[in-house]
Amino acid sequence: MTSKAFTPWILGLTGGIGSGKSAAAERFVELGVHLVDADQAARWVVEPGRPALASIVERFGPGVLQGDGQLDRAALRQLIFADPAQRKWLEQLLHPLIGQEIFSYLAKAQSPYAVYVSPLLIESGQHQKVQRVLVIDVPQEIQVARTLARDNTSPEQVQAILKAQLAREERLAHADDVVNNNADLAALYTQIDRLHHFYLTLRGGQP
Ligand code: ATP
Repeated sequence: MTSKAFTPWILGLTGGIGSGKSAAAERFVELGVHLVDADQAARWVVEPGRPALASIVERFGPGVLQGDGQLDRAALRQLIFADPAQRKWLEQLLHPLIGQEIFSYLAKAQSPYAVYVSPLLIESGQHQKVQRVLVIDVPQEIQVARTLARDNTSPEQVQAILKAQLAREERLAHADDVVNNNADLAALYTQIDRLHHFYLTLRGGQP
């Protein structure tokens, strides 16, 4: 068993749809920083052998499993799609487990600080569990344009997601650090590199 003399502090990385969280996250990984995002943790908690998968099969039947024993996400989505009660049951099962998974994973990180990426960091209240909040900020026009260029989606769908997320100003009000991602990727990386050097000087996320 390896032992570790320190616990890394946690940076919460957030931003609206298409703001550049994944692009920023990739840069942190290149810099050797350990990182997890909410989607990864959501997949881990339902891996074969985990108690959550057994609970889901018990409730919805073996039809939610693929031949290889993995969760068939499409089948489950289909079952809960038109059933708010089932969806609520699933959320109540998974949300606390995902939260635990994220923070126990990050506590084991081997870098001086670790990053948690979530589009809903502030909306979910999880910003209270991190030591510092970094917001990737772009004007809404750029958010929409980049999301439409990336995804096979409609302007209406993007607007609906924007509406469900925090307004830009409210998100910025929770930021300890802000990266403006309105220029090219090189400009984004330069800002992340600068912040990384600053972060390495911090203890517990504080100067
Ligand atoms: P979501 O929350 O929707 O998953 P995100 O915040 O992770 O989005 P990214 O996927 O990183 O955003 O960026 C959205 C799109 O914009 C991607 O196609 C990405 O390659 C592109 N992009 C990000 N930053 C820049 C930039 N500075 N210049 C040009 N394109 C960029």
